[in-house]
Amino acid sequence: MRKSAQRVHRSWNMSRIRGKNTGPEIFVRQILHRNGYRFRVHDKRLPGKPDIVLKRNRTIILVHGCFWHHHSACKRATIPRTNRQFWIKKIAGNVERDTHLRRQLSRLGWRVITLWQCELRDVNRVERRLLRALKSAPRQDSANGPGDVLKDAVPGPGRTTEAAPRL
Ligand SMILES: [Zn+2]
Repeated sequence: MRKSAQRVHRSWNMSRIRGKNTGPEIFVRQILHRNGYRFRVHDKRLPGKPDIVLKRNRTIILVHGCFWHHHSACKRATIPRTNRQFWIKKIAGNVERDTHLRRQLSRLGWRVITLWQCELRDVNRVERRLLRALKSAPRQDSANGPGDVLKDAVPGPGRTTEAAPRL
């Protein structure tokens, strides 16, 4: 397959948005850190390796790029003009998978909050929304709720849980 320089460059840009640990996601982690929330990232034990898992709040935060996850009515949710069929199929597949995962996670007793890349332009607003949502979530101090797949997952030293940095 031949790729023009332009296409290579574009797919590089897109991979930055699609991949793990992208800007928007780090941004959300910073909000959580500075408000004292503990969380895991990309937890492999849950369906779809969700971006951010707040076990105590039984809440999962998905940070979605508007292009890859096709944020409805968002101007970033475009379909590229070249290879149109490929992109339609690809993005429709992503959307379908997202819907399925959200359903699966909520069946397991998690509340799922989806944050979109474009929403993160307004830090204060996202922060307010997030904190409000987390405060209203039932806090689980003992992790023995029904369907709690993480009940043995008490974070120990050297595990994937991130310690809040001193800011
Ligand atoms: Zn958007």
